[in-house]
Amino acid sequence: MPPIKKYLLTPGPTEVPPEVLLEIAKPVIHHRTPEFSAELDRARQALKPLFGTREEVLILNSSGTGAMEAAVCNLLAPGEEAIFVNGGKFGERWGKILNAYGIVAHEIKVEWGHPVEPEMVEQFLARYPRSQAVFVQASETSTTAVHPVETIAEITRRRDVLLVVDGITSVGVFEQKMDEWGVDALVTGSQKALMLPPGLGFIALSERAWRKAAQISTPKFYFDLKRELKAQRDEHTTAYTPAVSLIRGLNKSLELIHRETLPAVFGRHRLMAEAVRAGARALGLELLAARAPAPGVTGILAPQGIDGTKVVRMMRDEMGVSVQGGQDHMKGKLIRIGHMGYVSPFEMLVAISALEIVLSRLGYRFPSGVGVAAVQNVLARSASI
Ligand SMILES: *Cc1c(COP(=O)(O)O)cnc(C)c1O
Repeated sequence: MPPIKKYLLTPGPTEVPPEVLLEIAKPVIHHRTPEFSAELDRARQALKPLFGTREEVLILNSSGTGAMEAAVCNLLAPGEEAIFVNGGKFGERWGKILNAYGIVAHEIKVEWGHPVEPEMVEQFLARYPRSQAVFVQASETSTTAVHPVETIAEITRRRDVLLVVDGITSVGVFEQKMDEWGVDALVTGSQKALMLPPGLGFIALSERAWRKAAQISTPKFYFDLKRELKAQRDEHTTAYTPAVSLIRGLNKSLELIHRETLPAVFGRHRLMAEAVRAGARALGLELLAARAPAPGVTGILAPQGIDGTKVVRMMRDEMGVSVQGGQDHMKGKLIRIGHMGYVSPFEMLVAISALEIVLSRLGYRFPSGVGVAAVQNVLARSASI
């Protein structure tokens, strides 16, 4: 039996603070009321600094993928061309969504764990000059690497090409400057850094993205962002019944985030990532994304001869510490520790301690406690705790 206290240290869903859970547990209110309108307006306003935008942030009832789909079907028409970065499972998903809508999608294949080279984006734009948009992840959760969104935006904003960014493990984890960088669409979901249960998607569009959206007549109904903008901005309500309880929870979580302050939230994520990476290195383990590791999730390669799937299962079933393994060809080879949202830097001690104990039981040899000591040293040196 796992211990009574469990730790959800996966790259989504993540733990939800008790204050947020209590808010969600309150009686449901009707959504066509001044009370709900005030909740909706407040949440949409408080989201803007996390996106780094003054544009409207729209709230959708869906997981993050719904917001990704909304970006595709509102910005492109069947037969149009686009470029997408496939550096992992979520990049691959951009390709699948683009295909589903009949968009001619040109794939930049990136080795797992690596960031895309901005020159590749430039080359693809030269090779496929009819491309109307570039799709990328800010943080590719499946490989735990970050892509250089700011640099890619320098390329796209000089051209008549939209940059669409999946910020699902980036918004609320590290700084996003949508307006300043020139990102045209930024999407996220509720169950990662926003400290909520799954169920909400979010999307913000730039001015030029809204202009493009105005010309597009791709068949869609539920995810019609023009309809949704009119409802949320002008009528202070949603087009259809919103996830009222989650939106109230969202206001609470945004209150917690802004009370901590965004720079402190970003600093905490950096510190947790640094601590876990130090712990892994001290254990003689390598990172999948050593060159550009994500601040919200760390991918540690399982030692030779040790099954990563087993490591993840033992950590969860015997110690109550949930982390995640690798997907596709990294199945059994990768251990992904999530450190996003409602997580204290001290929980990195828990993660690395559980990992140490399991690895040791599976026969991997190292001086006991070196990983934990490395985590503690990083925490002890930090000025912020
Ligand atoms: C989790 C995640 C998604 C998928 O979101 P769902 O909420 O599962 O639909 C997409 N992109 C990235 C980068 C993610 O981390």
